Amino acid sequence: MDERIEGTGGNVADFYGENVFSLKNMKNYLSENAYKSLLCTIKDGCSIDPGIADEVADAMKTWAVEKGATHFTHWFQPLTGATAEKHDSFIQPDEEGGVVLKFSGEELIKGEPDASSFPSGGLRATFEARGYTAWDPTSPAFIKDGGNGSTLCIPTAFYSYHGEALDKKTPLLRSAAVLSKQVCRLAKLFGIDIQNKKAYATLGPEQEYFLIDRSFYEARLDLIQTGRTLFGKAPAKHQQMDDHYFGAIKPRVMAFMDELDRELWKLGIPAKTRHNEVCPAQFELAPVFEEQNLSVDHNMITMEILKKVAERYEFICLLHEKPFAGVNGSGKHNNWSITGPDGKNWLTPGDDPHENAKFLTIICALMKAIDTYAGVLRSSVATAGNDHRLGANEAPPAILSIFLGDQLYDVIEQIEKGGAKSSKKTDAIEIGVDSLPTLPRDVTDRNRTSPFAFTGNKFEFRAVGSNQSCASANVVLNTIVADALCGICDELEEKVSSGNDFNESLQKVLQDIVKKHKKILFNGDNYTDEWHKEAAKRGLLNLKNTPEALESMKDPKVVELFEKHKVLSKTELMSRYDIYEKQYDTTIAIEASVALTMAKTMIIPVALEYQSEIADTIESISGCGCKTSATQELLKELCAETEKALAGIKKLSKAIDSEKSADMIKAMDELRVPVDALEGLLPAEIWPLPSYAEMLFLM
Ligand code: ADP
Ligand code: MG
Repeated sequence: MDERIEGTGGNVADFYGENVFSLKNMKNYLSENAYKSLLCTIKDGCSIDPGIADEVADAMKTWAVEKGATHFTHWFQPLTGATAEKHDSFIQPDEEGGVVLKFSGEELIKGEPDASSFPSGGLRATFEARGYTAWDPTSPAFIKDGGNGSTLCIPTAFYSYHGEALDKKTPLLRSAAVLSKQVCRLAKLFGIDIQNKKAYATLGPEQEYFLIDRSFYEARLDLIQTGRTLFGKAPAKHQQMDDHYFGAIKPRVMAFMDELDRELWKLGIPAKTRHNEVCPAQFELAPVFEEQNLSVDHNMITMEILKKVAERYEFICLLHEKPFAGVNGSGKHNNWSITGPDGKNWLTPGDDPHENAKFLTIICALMKAIDTYAGVLRSSVATAGNDHRLGANEAPPAILSIFLGDQLYDVIEQIEKGGAKSSKKTDAIEIGVDSLPTLPRDVTDRNRTSPFAFTGNKFEFRAVGSNQSCASANVVLNTIVADALCGICDELEEKVSSGNDFNESLQKVLQDIVKKHKKILFNGDNYTDEWHKEAAKRGLLNLKNTPEALESMKDPKVVELFEKHKVLSKTELMSRYDIYEKQYDTTIAIEASVALTMAKTMIIPVALEYQSEIADTIESISGCGCKTSATQELLKELCAETEKALAGIKKLSKAIDSEKSADMIKAMDELRVPVDALEGLLPAEIWPLPSYAEMLFLM
């Protein structure tokens, strides 16, 4: 008997990408001319030919309707950090009481959702509330199943009447173009053909998440309202034994993961790796890397599918960066690299000196970029949720530094010495002449504490939060690296045009960079106090929380950087500052208010109830002449913690009235102490919240 559950059988190669209007699907639905034109736009960055829009729209509609779609939507990424969609059906009444299904090129290319309720940070006054969405042909349209029908989703950029970016995709696309321009400039200096070619960043985001049973989630107001537990006593056993990491996957979770992968594959999302993470109930999913813009979109969809599929298995997927105190939080390792116009990964150390010179130039550009703009890179991962993680003991610290591994570090030191041709005895490397020692991957992948680590053929920026869009971090990465490359190219072009040898000029440029920016390199343990002291000595920034980090966005140097490369105007940048600051304050205010409600209406009542029960018990048993001293001790302890909790409530209430986030955080932390102590004193059966042990272990 075939026992396969419906929809879970079949060969992945047959259904992979079946819900995406992929190149494969396009070929079958478009004329050869339209297909070629669109292919040029997607692969080589040619502009969209408006002449083919009607045909593409019609083909998309035909394909989507065959797959059961009744609606289409421009799918976009407003500054809320989530995704947005407003559906329109394909129907148009005919004159005979029926309908025809239509989708025009105009509707494909541009949309106009009423945008008045999205955060715009002052970019859009309510009287001109219009926002526009523009088709991004480089990210394929896809179909979202709705249960009783489905919707064609068209990835779009979202901007205001005056053309200002209201979303996360627009600056990402702009920064990608800037990076391409500067990499191609450098490529040209290396003698690489850049005619009709582009360079692009690649991205592979490793996504961490928690799963807990739905019934526990529903019994916790804090999880429902804030995505994290605001109270909860650490269980005796959590992750100390390291027995969850890479452990055998429990059957219910396995079933979930199987379905998750299938759903992702149908959407052309190349989910590759799955495993148990460090904390019980924590897991990771990693896709095969893709072109950055596509990968960012895919990660947004992945987060949505994670939540959706989890519910089918009576799980809730928690994407918060720190759902549980005292154990590991969740991040997103942002694996980033550059593919040059030669189609090669420029972060792969090559076999010959020429390839190595490209590689070392990018490494030096990254050193300069991160060292110069650490603040704004830090700001791109600053959220209330991620504050619990950065600097805590499992995540990278808030101090940004680069890990290169010993061998590459040694090469950098040689560059610093300079490979002067005259000195015969030098061990310094001569750029463009000497080969690099082979850098085995296992040597470069050892340091798990670094926020920005070279891992063999890519850099891994580990500070992105699990709940965040990767867009912001990648906008900053693209722009700061492009800017560093711009500086390098300026100098090289100048030197070469005045007759200097290319390799010698490059050697000098890289040597200068290393001398100036070597302080950003750190191979040691990033969690230690010594490093924090050393980093301070080196003058590296340690922006401990979101308010501090966001200030970097106002740095005139940063404003100038984004304006120079036309990634964000000053107004656009400041609007983001305003929005992120407000999001932070609102998040904290909501948490504070939920903590207050829970303490007042759930915790204190049971504490008082138990107190009076014990007091009654003491009275009745002492009447019989029994000893009650230890019971009285218990009552005392209970009273003391309850009093502390009540005092904490008062303090939190005051902090909420003050509207100061920092005060609220402090008051929440203080209130948590007696509440967690009470959890350890009260009978488990009357404690009103599911425990950490239940949530982390029962699935
Ligand atoms: P880890 O040891 O961190 O788990 P993996 O080899 O599993 O490393 O890779 C992690 C992620 O890095 C994957 O999503 C992978 O696709 C991605 N990755 C690999 N090469 C590149 C690249 N050139 N550019 C961007 N991401 C990459
Ligand atoms: Mg990793």
